[in-house]
Amino acid sequence: MTKIGVLALQGAVREHINALQESGAEAVSVKRIDELNNLDGLVIPGGESTAMRRLIDKYEFLEPLKAFAKVKPVFGTCAGLILMAKTIEGQDTAHLELIDMTVERNAFGRQKDSFEAELHIKGVGEDVNGVFIRAPYIMDVGEDVEVLSIHNDRIVAARQGHFLCAAFHPELTDDYRLHQFFVQMVAEKKKVIA
Ligand code: GLN
Repeated sequence: MTKIGVLALQGAVREHINALQESGAEAVSVKRIDELNNLDGLVIPGGESTAMRRLIDKYEFLEPLKAFAKVKPVFGTCAGLILMAKTIEGQDTAHLELIDMTVERNAFGRQKDSFEAELHIKGVGEDVNGVFIRAPYIMDVGEDVEVLSIHNDRIVAARQGHFLCAAFHPELTDDYRLHQFFVQMVAEKKKVIA
């Protein structure tokens, strides 16, 4: 069975653990650097990216996370997506810089602080319920990035190699298809590096 960690410094951790378990993986929370050992993949949850970054720095997680991501799959949702982006609009620096994309934070504006939308996600489903909460969107992607979903002309899910990201919160629904997609990515990568 694949073992997937959920970075548990801040944000929606328990819901991801549940969704991963429902998708057939073993799932554990990761609070310490040594807990990255023996994982086949990692989820970076939603929450607040600047708060999460402060905790990443406080616990000296940045370099271990980058090293982990060199070989193992990572899935970021919402704030997790922001942490994975190479460029953040209006900011001089980014965080893990894993996916070649530019993101804008809180991009759907105040009136649309939170909303739900039915999404077509390539390889996942035509009717996936997306829960957006002060969500970012992906403004631009590099040529190695595969766009998986667009909502109102905005990219809301993408994949680059063994990295997956979504601007919404798949863990807040009982539709586990995107988690199943990631579990499959992790299982395939595990076979390759075994
Ligand atoms: N707006 C948050 C940020 O910029 C992300 C919101 C979320 O993860 N639900 O980090």
